[in-house]
Amino acid sequence: MALLQIAEPGQSSDPHQHRVAIGIDLGTTHSLVATVRSGQAQVLPDQHGHVLLPSVVHYSNEATSYGYEAQDFLVNDPTNTITSVKRFMGRSQADIKFQHPYQLLGTAQDMPTFQTAVGQKTPVEISADLLTQLKHRAEQSVAHLIQGAVITVPAYFDEAQRQATRDAAQLAGLNVLRLLNEPTAAAVAYGLDHTSQLEIDQNYVIYDLGGGTFDVSILRFSQGVFEVLATGGHTALGGDDLDRLIVKWLKQQLAIDNVDNETYAHLVIAAKKAKEDLSTQKHVSIQVEQQKIELDRATFEKIIQPALDRTLHVCKRVLRDAKLELTDIKHVVLVGGSTRSYAVQDAVEQLFKQTPLCSINPDEVVAIGAAMTADQLIGNRTDQALLLDVTPLSLGLETMGGLVERLIPRNTAIPIARKQEFTTYQDGQTAMLIHVLQGERDLVEHCRSLGQFVLHGIPPMTAGQARIEVTFQVDADGLLAVSAQETTSGTQANIDIKPSYGLSDTDMERLLLDGYKYAEEDKHLRHLHETKMEAERELEALTQAIKADATLLTPEQLTKLQQAQQQLVTTLQSDQIDDIERSIKQLKHYSDQFAALRMNRHIDHALKGTKLDDWSTPSTK
Ligand code: ADP
Ligand code: MG
Repeated sequence: MALLQIAEPGQSSDPHQHRVAIGIDLGTTHSLVATVRSGQAQVLPDQHGHVLLPSVVHYSNEATSYGYEAQDFLVNDPTNTITSVKRFMGRSQADIKFQHPYQLLGTAQDMPTFQTAVGQKTPVEISADLLTQLKHRAEQSVAHLIQGAVITVPAYFDEAQRQATRDAAQLAGLNVLRLLNEPTAAAVAYGLDHTSQLEIDQNYVIYDLGGGTFDVSILRFSQGVFEVLATGGHTALGGDDLDRLIVKWLKQQLAIDNVDNETYAHLVIAAKKAKEDLSTQKHVSIQVEQQKIELDRATFEKIIQPALDRTLHVCKRVLRDAKLELTDIKHVVLVGGSTRSYAVQDAVEQLFKQTPLCSINPDEVVAIGAAMTADQLIGNRTDQALLLDVTPLSLGLETMGGLVERLIPRNTAIPIARKQEFTTYQDGQTAMLIHVLQGERDLVEHCRSLGQFVLHGIPPMTAGQARIEVTFQVDADGLLAVSAQETTSGTQANIDIKPSYGLSDTDMERLLLDGYKYAEEDKHLRHLHETKMEAERELEALTQAIKADATLLTPEQLTKLQQAQQQLVTTLQSDQIDDIERSIKQLKHYSDQFAALRMNRHIDHALKGTKLDDWSTPSTK
């Protein structure tokens, strides 16, 4: 009997010529894998038909479990059940400012290590465990060896976070073709890199509301490259917050206040289910605490309005950062499971005055775009121009006076190499420190230190005579290699910048002890943090002052002051910088008057012979 070789349309008839590559969306709450088959990108389900793999691993001596199975241990064995490991990637302990239930080992400067039932696990290893699951799933489903993978990362991920992701993929035995920005992947999935036949540049907004995070990016497609014009978001705003708002409402409906952990967990599960069902049904019945509560779409929308408003607020700010008007936006793309809710879609539509793109499943769109890019990179689509990626942040060197000289500006298409000449500033100088930095600020202390090395053996010359050529080379994944050469003598030194709190690469770790402070995306958080601290200082000082000198105020003045104080306490909960700043200003308006009265009283006292030192009673700052 003759064997026939059957090929699907678009597929090569020779199996050896068709290469299989996959795209992986390694998400905070969910991860998934997709590939291109017969010219079509499709997501790959596991043997139970689930496409999404909850990004959860449960470590146990009996059997380690993943995804939905691992989720079952969240209530009973939380410390061995690791969720949202993405938040820990490429971070030192000192960087981790959010709440989590885990016991982390190591010093502040170290990559954190989770203490689990099966021993210590780094974020890189945990991510690798998730990636391995997806790789196995892909191998089983395509019955081929996987030759390469594109892994997506948030647009604001810095070098350390990207390198940690790359390390995880390598540990999982994946050949990483490229790390791709999540918003770029979503744009690729919608073919936005091909539809714009027009010669002019196009701007796109990618609105990504996931499980625990909100990201909005503005991309410009120009001459074959997606540039990230601006990004913004909230590291703690997503579907989980919508669930919490519903739980709060449920508690009001049930007229219960304090609930134990178990009841709370049940309420969250019921809320999440109701929310998800409302994207296919107009109206749901929630069965909780032996009661049946009805929820319709309009009420749901009202419940989640505060969270929606916060996302829209960020959208407006990011538009401002990109110096664009609403009318400059060609399309808005919806990404993330939470954008399945009509309330979210409507809110976005109203703000941008256009129907957002959401025909591709919003929790699959990033993986789809990654799979399409992987297919192209592995060489299956020679008909299409290769999509270029860009550097997310500027790269530069420390120069005299603690300033940063930028060699490669942000948004430069990669791969790229740039050279620049430097010289010595002292007579007879024989060594030079090459300190590599990443960031948009001008001062070294405000940028992220990526590593440093010393070029030794410069022949002694008068200052300004040596010619030191420094080369920065960024490969297609955005990873940087730096070399320096003294050209008259040929002395050379170089490093690969691998700013991971890497696997075993202790040498690289040593290079990274510095800095790690404020990458672009932290700016907002830092500002918020500082504003809140200022607000708290103000409130504390005022409380003390009222305690000491309330009698100086008329009842009306005191009420005004206390109202302004209460207003600040309330806005502090909102995490909205603008509101907090406004409330601080308002409060200062009244407290300054109060301070003036207090000052007068102290002067009176002083004139009556009180010691000057007594002036330093609680001040209003
Ligand atoms: P991430 O990118 O952060 O890993 P996802 O994009 O997978 O997250 O989004 C997960 C969130 O999407 C969860 O909060 C989940 O409840 C929510 N979600 C999933 N399906 C729906 C739906 N049908 N309607 C509303 N929200 C949904
Ligand atoms: Mg996501």
